[in-house]
Amino acid sequence: MTSSPAPASLPASNPLAAPSQLPYQLPPFAEITPEHVREALFAGMAEHRAEIAGIIADPAEPTFDNTVVALERSGELLARAERVFYNLTSAVSSDRIREIEREFSPLAAAHEDALRLDPALFARVDAVFTGRHDAGLDSEQVRLVERYHLDFVLSGAALDEAGRERLRELNLRLAELSTTFDQNLQQATEAAAVAVDDAAELDGLSEGEIAGAAGAAAERGRDGYLLTLVLPSGQPALAKLRNRDLRRRLYEASVSRASGGEHDNGPVAAEMAHLRAVRARLLGFDTHADLIAADQTAKTSAAVDALLGELVAPALANAKAEAEVLGELAAADGIELAAWDWAFYSERVRAERYAVDSAALRPWFELDRVLVDGVFRAAELLYGYTFTPRPDLVGYSADTRVWEVSGPDGRPVGLYLGDFYAREGKRGGAWMSSFVTQSALLETRPVVFNNLNVTRPAAGQPTLLTLSEVTTLFHEFGHALHGLFSDVTYPRFSGTAVPRDFVEFPSQVNEMWALWPEVLTHYATHVQTGEPLSPDTVRAIEAAALWGEGFATLEYLAATLLDQAWHRLDPDTVVADPQAFEAQALQAAGVAFDLVPPRYRTTYFQHVFAGGYSAGYYSYIWSEVLDADTVEWFKENGGLRRDNGDVFRSRLLSRGGSVDALGAFRAVRGRDADTGPLLRRRGLAPAA
Ligand SMILES: [Zn+2]
Repeated sequence: MTSSPAPASLPASNPLAAPSQLPYQLPPFAEITPEHVREALFAGMAEHRAEIAGIIADPAEPTFDNTVVALERSGELLARAERVFYNLTSAVSSDRIREIEREFSPLAAAHEDALRLDPALFARVDAVFTGRHDAGLDSEQVRLVERYHLDFVLSGAALDEAGRERLRELNLRLAELSTTFDQNLQQATEAAAVAVDDAAELDGLSEGEIAGAAGAAAERGRDGYLLTLVLPSGQPALAKLRNRDLRRRLYEASVSRASGGEHDNGPVAAEMAHLRAVRARLLGFDTHADLIAADQTAKTSAAVDALLGELVAPALANAKAEAEVLGELAAADGIELAAWDWAFYSERVRAERYAVDSAALRPWFELDRVLVDGVFRAAELLYGYTFTPRPDLVGYSADTRVWEVSGPDGRPVGLYLGDFYAREGKRGGAWMSSFVTQSALLETRPVVFNNLNVTRPAAGQPTLLTLSEVTTLFHEFGHALHGLFSDVTYPRFSGTAVPRDFVEFPSQVNEMWALWPEVLTHYATHVQTGEPLSPDTVRAIEAAALWGEGFATLEYLAATLLDQAWHRLDPDTVVADPQAFEAQALQAAGVAFDLVPPRYRTTYFQHVFAGGYSAGYYSYIWSEVLDADTVEWFKENGGLRRDNGDVFRSRLLSRGGSVDALGAFRAVRGRDADTGPLLRRRGLAPAA
């Protein structure tokens, strides 16, 4: 299909031309075609450029209102079109959508760059920033000015022309290297797949897994079987393969991939770390890790160190205790435990000590019961909010259902959309996003949605979830509540618009209600017999979850500390031997343990060298510290009670990004976050 020339202005017949007239501005999905979205994206960029030009050309002195608030109000059409578009690309994609994506993505990046690097626009923002304490602004307004200013500074707007040119070169080279890293990784991963001739060697794998390995070999036009690699160091087959030599081959293929040889990512990573260090110094930061932390709740790399430092010793001690248990089992088989034996013996411990058959639990977890009698009910008991089906409102796919959300006093709050099934055109995983975000300035109320990838049952059969899917639903709904409870003025601060090392915290907290007795007894009843899930089973699930936490925490910390080490370089250092650098970094951080490799090693650390997580891999555990401490606060205060929910909602969830995140945490917890609850949750012994 050929593309028509991009239209400059949008015909009124386009359903995205004006805010939707449907309740809460729900997009009129039934009328929207991909061509409407494309038209609206292009017109939205043009309109946004014109608005920015108007702000710059304003003859009046720069003020909070005529500059920062004007920026907050700008780009409305583009934002409306983008929210619909990005949902199409992730949840209902097609060839045409992918074609529009390839056309729009580079233009969107250039659009964003042009805005952030405009010297005239930055001069106005900078003037407002300089006078922010003498302009009669309230604390949220001062914060908004500071956020905008930081966005511009991090983009390089404060540099002179030569500096901006140098930055453009660095960004370009870094983008190239990131693509090279990704392509090397893909090719090296394919090349590292382990070939097996004799099916007898695959003893321990299921019939389906063996058929999959035969299929993978056939796809490459070869006989026999092929064990392909997944991204982290740990390969699923290692837990099952009885053939020890094959375990060793699979393990070694995994941890040495893209290291040396034709697709060597070592030098690529080293050059990226160097250029990031140069760029950080150009932008006025000591290291890349400090540049990244400046935008996060951690604020400094020293704060990241302090947290990680508290976790290392208990994680290592616990991994060593696990190694002892596994070593005894291995010795009984006449072998000395090696890294490639860990998962195999760990699985044996899990099966023998904690007999939980997760597949057998599914009849207790029927989707609608989990959602309505579990997830919604927990929110009703805790926050007083209610969820009413709105079958009259149309979602973006036949699977999408719509609920209207009301507050404790019956006040209309927003809409919640749920789209739970896997299907063609939908990416994997689970996520939350918004079609409309709450803002008093724009007079908008939230329209949020959750996507899951549950397998659709056969016609007429109930949808039965795994325990992990139940937890995921509670998790994503936690993000949804963060969006729905939002009560802020400026869209920049709405709902989940918080730093990356904070955004997973509320959603992780919401997972606590999945196994909470008052909630669980209400939803977890057998789909045929109505029999409740027994408390013994629940206790067994909880006990089983603790086994292996030493390993899991240590492999995560090792990867995190490796990420930090690469991003603490000064701009004059170029690492010549990436392997030696990695070994030395793990040693120095106290996480070197032969039996537990980092979850990702340098040459396949995609999050950091080809994703958006450089110097940011720590954020998962940073959020979890806040989460575990908050769960403890709920428990100390009687658990699922309205007064607890009101405190958490009003002091933290509803504030979005409008207040200091750790300040909001303190307002709930009464003190700074403590790592004790996380260590206890993970069953990690305190440091000796
Ligand atoms: Zn999440």
